[in-house]
Amino acid sequence: MSSYPMSPLMGQMMSQPLLISSILDYAAKHYPTTEIVSRRVEGDMHRYTYRDCHVRARKMANALTSLGVTMGDRVATLAWNGYRHMELYYAVSGSGAVLHTINPRLHPEQIAYIANHAEDQYLFFDLTFLPLIEAVAAHCKSVKAFVLMAGRERMPTDTKIANLLCYEDLMASSSDDYQWPLFDENSAASLCYTSGTTGNPKGALYSHRSTVLHAYGSAMPNALNVSATDTVLPVVPMFHVNAWGLPYSVLLSGAKMVYPGAALDGKSLYELFEAEGVTFSAGVPTVWLGLVNYALENKLRFSTFRRTVIGGSACPPAMMDTLIDQLDVQVIHAWGMTEMSPLGTAGGLQSKHLSLPKAAQRKILQKQGHAVYGVDMKIVDDDGKELPWDGATYGHLLVKGPWIISSYFKNEGGDVLQDGWFPTGDVATIDADGYMQITDRSKDVIKSGGEWIGTIDLENIAMAHPAVLQAACIGIAHPKWDERPLLLVIKRPGQDVTREDLLHYFDGKIARFWMPDDVIFVEALPTGATGKIQKNKLRDQYKGHLLPTA
Ligand code: AMP
Repeated sequence: MSSYPMSPLMGQMMSQPLLISSILDYAAKHYPTTEIVSRRVEGDMHRYTYRDCHVRARKMANALTSLGVTMGDRVATLAWNGYRHMELYYAVSGSGAVLHTINPRLHPEQIAYIANHAEDQYLFFDLTFLPLIEAVAAHCKSVKAFVLMAGRERMPTDTKIANLLCYEDLMASSSDDYQWPLFDENSAASLCYTSGTTGNPKGALYSHRSTVLHAYGSAMPNALNVSATDTVLPVVPMFHVNAWGLPYSVLLSGAKMVYPGAALDGKSLYELFEAEGVTFSAGVPTVWLGLVNYALENKLRFSTFRRTVIGGSACPPAMMDTLIDQLDVQVIHAWGMTEMSPLGTAGGLQSKHLSLPKAAQRKILQKQGHAVYGVDMKIVDDDGKELPWDGATYGHLLVKGPWIISSYFKNEGGDVLQDGWFPTGDVATIDADGYMQITDRSKDVIKSGGEWIGTIDLENIAMAHPAVLQAACIGIAHPKWDERPLLLVIKRPGQDVTREDLLHYFDGKIARFWMPDDVIFVEALPTGATGKIQKNKLRDQYKGHLLPTA
């Protein structure tokens, strides 16, 4: 695999492959009684320990072998965050097969496309998705059987699915006498498709090595900082880039795990955080909106919850302020991509910042942060020339590292690297201290009269207005300036603001030519399968909108 020269004097350390199975072995051996608590889609709570999980994952690995699953075969899941899903994370990858997590929020046609493209052999699913499976089963040509992740009592008596198996039956009929196989650490371990806002989704195929290194890197103090004294609740779904690696990093850190199942509304999350003593969580800004609003509206505070990672799209500074100042929850602003396993950078302060005034510290925390060791990054101009790290010059962000893809699954899209670097499609600045800040997606950035306008900044300012719940900014064609910003805004319930007042609110906060040309108040903004606002849909929808300045 390596194309690098060999030294005449090689190191004399054990050559032990970095395999995912070793993470569960470690957790079961060193934290046998640490709990995994899951809110099940069946409605009740389930609790067991890493030791129990270890037993059941090995049983499931035996079950997979008896189903004929062999190394490299793809086994798909359509499932929420829960203990059975985690058993599959280890049983499938640990046995040498490839775990393919499918995002159930995708359109059924896209689900069938992905299952066929991946050539999934088996598809495991949660009870919630029975109707979805009934709709797509006939189109998933490679799937030999569908496995309902529930007990026999939940099996439907009347179903259109020809080959339906029961998860708990498979479990009951299998022995836990299973030895994880040893194999090359570069073998494929899991597969996750990008959200595919344009064209068909493409697969990022992670290896055991990349997954284990990512787990190490992301657990570090300057990244997610997970330890055995934490109780972690991943709100980010296990079908969104492996829940940002938490089903691996939490186990090697020995922390207690709490899985929320399908109940991701503010009230259900708040109750689970309190009941289980959650200290640390992770999710996209849209889920935090629900939880933060629920806590504020009901004048609630968290007893144990003290840190959260927010990423997947920019964390609005107003949300960060509320979490830190009103709810006493530290925010780690992180950035990454499906193609990066996903963690690239994580925000935080250095010791020299500790004496700065709060407002200056907050400006630093708002940035997407430092590259995690293992990720190298640079910014370049349109011609590929490297740009300075001065915190002001922005350019295309490129990355490389051992947990970043070198090509998409089945080589879709051909050669994606530029001189060995992966182009992220993001536009960013990097300052002299190495803090990266995303200005925009390159396809979202507004090009006005030859200059660029970053939409994230405009949205962040709008969302700092007390009457604004959510905002999205898009470029609209303009006869003179090429493109001008249009701001779409959802008002907070019970609050009011006029177009003029909101525009006035931008005065003095931005360069004059950044001023949005118009504001439209809307009831909702379209979000995609991973909870991000779909700006391509907004651009289509408002294509003909006549700007007052046009
Ligand atoms: P996905 O592969 O679906 O997770 O999307 C990755 C993309 O999400 C990145 O390329 C960014 O455009 C965006 N993204 C992720 N995290 C952040 C963040 N903290 N701030 C701004 N954009 C982000």
